[in-house]
Amino acid sequence: MAMPVVTFDPAADRVGDPTITTPWLVDAQLDAASCVPEEGTGAYETLRAYGAKPLRQQRIPREYFRMDAVERDARIWALRRELGDRLVILGHHYQRDEVIQFADYRGDSYKLSQLAAAQNEAEFVLFCGVHFMAESADILTSPRQKVILPNLEAGCSMADMAKGDDVEAAWRAIGRAGVDLDTVIPVTYMNSTAELKAFCGRNGGIVCTSSNASRVYDWAFERGEKIMFFPDEHLGRNTGVAKGIPEDRMVVWDPFQPMGGLTAGQLRDATVILWKGYCSVHARFSVEQIETARAEHPGVNVIVHPECRLEVVQAADSAGSTEFIIDTITAAPAGTVWAVGTEINLVNRLNAELPDKEIFCLDPVVCPCSTMYRVHPSYILWTLEHLVEDEVVNQITVDPTVAREALVALDRMLAVP
Ligand code: SF4
Repeated sequence: MAMPVVTFDPAADRVGDPTITTPWLVDAQLDAASCVPEEGTGAYETLRAYGAKPLRQQRIPREYFRMDAVERDARIWALRRELGDRLVILGHHYQRDEVIQFADYRGDSYKLSQLAAAQNEAEFVLFCGVHFMAESADILTSPRQKVILPNLEAGCSMADMAKGDDVEAAWRAIGRAGVDLDTVIPVTYMNSTAELKAFCGRNGGIVCTSSNASRVYDWAFERGEKIMFFPDEHLGRNTGVAKGIPEDRMVVWDPFQPMGGLTAGQLRDATVILWKGYCSVHARFSVEQIETARAEHPGVNVIVHPECRLEVVQAADSAGSTEFIIDTITAAPAGTVWAVGTEINLVNRLNAELPDKEIFCLDPVVCPCSTMYRVHPSYILWTLEHLVEDEVVNQITVDPTVAREALVALDRMLAVP
């Protein structure tokens, strides 16, 4: 597997190096938009380690970033009104408040994929989320509808950890190890490229989200004997443990090791073959943070996302998708205290919108998802100003063959009860 040269360098960014990704941001915006997590767990470290190259955002004039926020937002609202029913704005829960205020619908990736599939009217779908979500929206909407990502650099470090070629190579190697591939059901997490969804579509597989992973495992084991799960090792393992699969029957395929670092016997004996990938936000949460929360807030309820590591999920009081976390805390009695293991923008918003409860993030120094954070209102304004001139910028289009195969896997997921 080739390791491309990685070009991202936040320091170089500030001096306007034209070879890196965001040279047009002034210092203040760069600081606000580039929360670089600690060594070994951060999105950029991950991108470096995996050799991922972010997509390049078209340069937008600096005045968009220098604009007074009140004026900027007023201009966005005016354009929003002018575009009327021609435009729908979808906002992922992890988007910052300055962005989410413009969303017609909020949701996690599963809910937004359902909403995208239900969109028949709007000509433009502005997707305030990350690249893989906009790809799925493009696949699920009709050909006449255009899906737009405000900033093309809003990717997902986890999705970048499983590349199509590497998964294809792993699939063939698993077959050479003596595993009957007809008995293996590939399952890709929604947080993956359209290429991987297409791989699943043409190999009898399916897409899952953190909302439906358990039901998708049931679907898969009705059709095969083994699951190959990518790209999130932790969601795959947590789901397997919850289904009663022994941990030693779940092996991890490391794309940087020959044969994934596994023996043929391990592959033949495994019930689930997990891909070595993780979310740079959720992998930060730890058992120590849970212990600290319990020591400092007696009676606290700890709720985490299943992209967290197994020991964190097991130490928490409950675990579930973003929508599960929202619904659980919303329905909880007034006066309850919640320590939450998920992205900070959502946690802060829950705390603001549910003032009868105390809600805080498990990690006191957690960063926002640094790629979600690349969607800034300035890009929304720039995008809408082009749309009212009938010029579509930052449209996300998936190759028709890839889209057709990916749709098979997505439709299987949406049909799972
Ligand atoms: S929170 Fe994690 S999985 Fe979600 S977009 Fe950010 S890096 Fe990807």
